[in-house]
Amino acid sequence: RRRLGTDAAGDRPPLTVLAGPTAVGKGTVAAYIREHFPEVKLSVSATTRRPRPGEIDGVHYFFVDDERFDRMLAADELLEWATVHNKYRYGTPRGPVVQAAERGELVLLEIDLQGARQVRASMPAARLVFLAPPSWDELVNRLVGRGTEDAEERDRRLETAKVELAAAEEFDEVIINDEVPRAAARLVELMRGER
Ligand code: 5GP
Repeated sequence: RRRLGTDAAGDRPPLTVLAGPTAVGKGTVAAYIREHFPEVKLSVSATTRRPRPGEIDGVHYFFVDDERFDRMLAADELLEWATVHNKYRYGTPRGPVVQAAERGELVLLEIDLQGARQVRASMPAARLVFLAPPSWDELVNRLVGRGTEDAEERDRRLETAKVELAAAEEFDEVIINDEVPRAAARLVELMRGER
């Protein structure tokens, strides 16, 4: 049986991280995989933000308060965690991910770049996949198109996106999110190759 964190004989543990810049559509790709590829086990993160309409506790996230999140940290229950957009905390519960991976299931973490770097550091054999926009203009369109931010906030996010795009070179694979079903299928194909 393969062990997490090892890369014996050049193969990888069945653990894949999907990350990418703000507004690239990681969540949409993950939702598509949840619906169409039941063989992929999506890690359920803990978060301190409130549920949005339609989100189910234990399915999309474990919705926890700050105190509970602190306890999870203190007990070293999180494989990685980050404060995203300077607001809420998000983290990957370690147990379910490690157990599923050791059973040989295909495990996917959809997390932010800070979290991806932590997984890289603690599990060098994990596969890191970067989801990229078809073009810079397309990313700008997606960020600006919503029209909900003022000019200052928009520029701040564009700056962040520029820095985030440069992170692609730290990843094992890059998938262009031109069409969600195609990007999702490509990701699952990569994951199946790990078996
Ligand atoms: P949202 O609040 O829109 O569901 O997610 C916001 C951001 O948090 C997304 O970029 C998502 O990738 C990231 N995220 C979700 N779960 C985790 C997690 O467990 N760890 C980290 N580091 N980021 C997460």
